[in-house]
Order: sequence, then structure tokens, then C-alpha cells
Amino acid sequence: MAEKTIFKRIIDGEIPAKIVYEDEHCLAFEDIKPAAPTHLIVIPKREIASVDDVKPEDEAVVGHLFTAIRAVAAKLGLTGGYRVVTNCGRDSGQEVMHLHFHVLAGRRLGWPPG
Ligand code: 5GP
Repeated sequence: MAEKTIFKRIIDGEIPAKIVYEDEHCLAFEDIKPAAPTHLIVIPKREIASVDDVKPEDEAVVGHLFTAIRAVAAKLGLTGGYRVVTNCGRDSGQEVMHLHFHVLAGRRLGWPPG
């Protein structure tokens, strides 16, 4: 069996994370190496490796992630705006093969990203 990703281990409670939001379908926690004053990772509990692996039956769960992101942004008072980013595959720099959205806020974010 394939080794669990670090995010699956967080879902299963095997390693700690600073969780800021959780519901039946998703989890949001602080990134261990923040790239901005607020840097959250939002993941589905369902194991989906990346955007490239999203299937039609995942649509409801993936859509739900955005409702959760909005709820988290409101909870944390990210009124100055925030950026939602997902890396997919080698050239993007994706390190963890469990679909996740980065939520970045708290400073002026440059564009385009590097
Ligand atoms: P990726 O490069 O795959 O888009 O982003 C993976 C993110 O997960 C990185 O920003 C990295 O800092 C974060 N990360 C990696 N391992 C851990 C961990 O064990 N705990 C937490 N909270 N974040 C992690």
C-alpha cells in the first residue's frame, strides 16, 4: 500500500497541526512554513492527489472547500483580502500529493508568483 501523505497523517491525527477549521469533509490548518503572516492549508478529507486527479464524483467535495475557505477567511477576519493557490504537479512545485489550497493573507502579495 502507498505510504500516507503528511496531510493524510494530519487528518488521521497521527501528527499535530494547528487546526483552525474542521467539518465532515475538510480541514484547515496553519502551514508549518508560512509564506505570509496568515498561511493556511485547506484540504479535503477525501484522498485526492491533485487537481489532475479530481473526478466528477469529487465535485461536491471540491466545491465545498471554497465554502470552507470563505468561512475560514471570515472567522480569521481576512478583510484586507487573501490569495487562494493550488500547486499541481512537478513544475508548480507541488510537494504534498494530497489536494490542498494555500490561503495567504496579511501582506501585500506580489503578482505574478515566481
Ligand atoms: P505544496 O508545495 O505541495 O503546494 O505545499 C505543501 C505545503 O505544506 C508547504 O507550504 C509546506 O510548508 C506545508 N507542509 C509540509 N509539511 C507540513 C506539516 O507537516 N505540517 C504543516 N502544517 N504543513 C506542512
